[in-house]
Amino acid sequence: MRIVIKVGTSTLAHSTGRLNIRRVEELCKVLSDIKNSGHEVILVSSGAIGMGAGKLNLKEKPTDIATRQAAASVGQCELMYTYDKLFSEYNHTVSQILLTNYDVTNEKSHTNFKNTIFRLLELDVLPVINENDTVSTDELEIGDNDTLAAIVAESIKAELLVILSDISGLYTSDPRKDENATLIPVVEEIDDYIRSIAGTPGSRLGSGGMITKIKAAEIATKSGCDMIICSGDNPDILYNILEGKQTGTKFVKKSN
Ligand code: GLU
Repeated sequence: MRIVIKVGTSTLAHSTGRLNIRRVEELCKVLSDIKNSGHEVILVSSGAIGMGAGKLNLKEKPTDIATRQAAASVGQCELMYTYDKLFSEYNHTVSQILLTNYDVTNEKSHTNFKNTIFRLLELDVLPVINENDTVSTDELEIGDNDTLAAIVAESIKAELLVILSDISGLYTSDPRKDENATLIPVVEEIDDYIRSIAGTPGSRLGSGGMITKIKAAEIATKSGCDMIICSGDNPDILYNILEGKQTGTKFVKKSN
């Protein structure tokens, strides 16, 4: 199976912006094991801006463009250094792909991207993808990695997209505010009700929230790819998913 895994900043980093070492080590171990069992794994990783901010000792995630791009430039190095080191321990080779909206909307660039990633997969590489935050400005940006991960899954005809998040799925209302909120295990159809319960963006470090995840689910399911949102607290959850156990919220692909 070809699987795209998206991991958000709040899963990768502590609230200080510094790396959550235990979690990232576990993530790399589980992804390596899944790859060893014969699946193709593509990782869409956030964290560049958050980790750059941590490394630069900025008190908060920057909001002005120049500092955000500087932080991304620092943080992306840190991110790839970490992945390279940890995946090497399990004998896996990683590659870095940084994309802007132009790269996925311009036909020639999009084709180049697909050709490269298919070749990387043939070469048994584990591609790590992020938005190219150091050059992305308003006109160029995809904006969030949930959407980016869905565009990647659609482009390479992945069968499954898993979004590891700081929330364990889609709830009937915001579980941080409403104790009666219940998890919706399966979504067959993304309708106005589902859109209406998506609420507002979440944590301080990440940039997505549920709205972008629903948008991602629309892109993925339309392209014939199942999508699951689940908690990234313990990356072992990926084993449950591959064993077909009910985990988080599953958005069922459209058959075409
Ligand atoms: N590309 C951003 C980063 O690496 C994150 C975007 C997102 O979390 O949606 O910091």
